[in-house]
Amino acid sequence: MPEGPEVQTIVNGLQNKIINHRIENITFAEGAESMVAPLTPSDFRTLIANQIVTNVHRRGKFVDIELSSGIHLIIHLLMTGQIIFNNDPHNSQPPKFLRIVFQFENGQELYIADKSTWVKIVCLSRDEIKTYKKFQDLGVDVLSEQFTFTTFYETLTKSQRMIHSLLLNQKSLSGLGNIYVNEVLFYAGINPPQKANSLLQADAMALYYAIRHVTKEALQQKGTTFSDYRTPDGGKGQYQNFLKVFKRAGKPCIRCGTPIERMKVAGRSAFLCPRDQVVNPVEKTLTSKQLTFPELHDNQSESLPNYIFILVGPSSVGKTTLSRQIAAKIPFIKLVPTVKTRQPRPGEVDGVDAIFVSDTEFKSMIEDDCFVIHGECYGNKYGTPKGLITQTLRDGSDVLIILSPEGALEIQSIYSNAYVIGLIPPSMDSLKRRVMNRDDYSASEKAARLDTLEMELNSLSHSDFTIVTETPEQALHNAFDIIYTIRCKTT
Ligand SMILES: [Zn+2]
Repeated sequence: MPEGPEVQTIVNGLQNKIINHRIENITFAEGAESMVAPLTPSDFRTLIANQIVTNVHRRGKFVDIELSSGIHLIIHLLMTGQIIFNNDPHNSQPPKFLRIVFQFENGQELYIADKSTWVKIVCLSRDEIKTYKKFQDLGVDVLSEQFTFTTFYETLTKSQRMIHSLLLNQKSLSGLGNIYVNEVLFYAGINPPQKANSLLQADAMALYYAIRHVTKEALQQKGTTFSDYRTPDGGKGQYQNFLKVFKRAGKPCIRCGTPIERMKVAGRSAFLCPRDQVVNPVEKTLTSKQLTFPELHDNQSESLPNYIFILVGPSSVGKTTLSRQIAAKIPFIKLVPTVKTRQPRPGEVDGVDAIFVSDTEFKSMIEDDCFVIHGECYGNKYGTPKGLITQTLRDGSDVLIILSPEGALEIQSIYSNAYVIGLIPPSMDSLKRRVMNRDDYSASEKAARLDTLEMELNSLSHSDFTIVTETPEQALHNAFDIIYTIRCKTT
């Protein structure tokens, strides 16, 4: 059944074709009479003929064609319906299973085709549309601007339904059907039968950004065609080529290789990765020994399925705070700590924020080829552990690392799936204040860092994305948005 992205594709395709054109005639093929019931074809023709199309838009999974008389033609394609536009009827074939033809004043035609006869067309006046039950009941449209995190989270916290069922219910949220519901739950790492109100706020954020980006990409691919859905030019959607779990039972998860499973949730099919979509994931913690002496791989530039996100930014812009939040809250992402020769600062945890080693240990790690890149900054040595990155990617997680802009470019030259996120302070003054207020920097270190701030800021211009670190909460929302932009992208 066409879902929000498919119906929106139809609407987008019709807008520049039929608006401002006059419907001259309507013809019905045999079996199509029931589609306009309770009207008869002749009543329908009387109501519609000679009207000019003034607008075409989408309401949930319905196409709404507005006419000059104020009448709205509400079309629901249900299971197998198609809306096809033909700009040259004399030289091209009408679609198979043609049911209704709308003929325009310029000779062009709009077809309703359906191999069954389930399509429903309802005519409503301006007043009737305001009280039409099916529209009054529609929840917030996931493709609209009204779909905000606040409204979404409120919907979740109020519901005891299973999340898979809640997302399918058009009264709670409109525009999603079973294809996209399964896909977004996979991206967010959520178990389909989990109760909506038991989701953590971070799960809700992951789900929100997965919905935003999956539907956006699906729209860009003109929807998903398995069998019957067609775009108005008669073509197929392409999003079926990018599905990660839907109808992939038995095939390996793209993230971890575990076979995708199928289960029933309130009578509907749900597809999931049994390893990545569990109710309470148990975090595997690496031992300090593994962190310090990571396993080495010969070919780290091989193509791995997951992503590397690199945070860059000037001193005190908030890299550590944001990286901890991202690693704690965004599913499938692990912070790979940098190996450092300096002493831990107050609050820094060895093996989490950084791996602190002696000069001698660092030297032997260089000899053992443990680093993707290493360098020196303010008199201390820094190295990015090669084995740990490869191991994290192979384990099915994305990697998060904090690096200098030069280091970031180096990583991007080795790994094709690495993205640089630059953190920008709200203003230079606020950044200077943050550096001055640090009590873990010495006076000389503060002076040195203040000197290089401007240069550090300028080097952010090579970032793929930027976040202005206004507040920690807003910075985290931006990070979710960026990470899901990358994870869901199809081009
Ligand atoms: Zn998996």
